Amino acid sequence: MYEAKPWMCPSRQHVLGLVVRNGSGVRQLLLYRHAIPRPSSTLFGEGEYPTPDSSRKSENAFEEEEVEVEVMAMVEGYVADVRCDLCGEVRTWVPGEEVLRQLLDRVMASRKGANDE
Ligand SMILES: [Zn+2]
Repeated sequence: MYEAKPWMCPSRQHVLGLVVRNGSGVRQLLLYRHAIPRPSSTLFGEGEYPTPDSSRKSENAFEEEEVEVEVMAMVEGYVADVRCDLCGEVRTWVPGEEVLRQLLDRVMASRKGANDE
């Protein structure tokens, strides 16, 4: 089993693809042929982006969250620049990004611990 997370363009308004993990825990990017507008969904675990009338859209207007998309490519293990075809911004897929971040967190944590003494 793997978790799938949306991979959004720099403006964070459009979904460029899905990040999945294969059996070995390696991150892969399922790249959509076309970017799709970001669904208004709890799927992403963060409902706090501002929309003009978000307070009125609670009547299951977007009950069907499934968006049919074509997967264009599977990106794995290399750096790729992906252009959002809705806003034109480019985001760079970096396979090891998450690992680097974890490493940074650990460094920060250890520094904080040192300062506390
Ligand atoms: Zn975009």
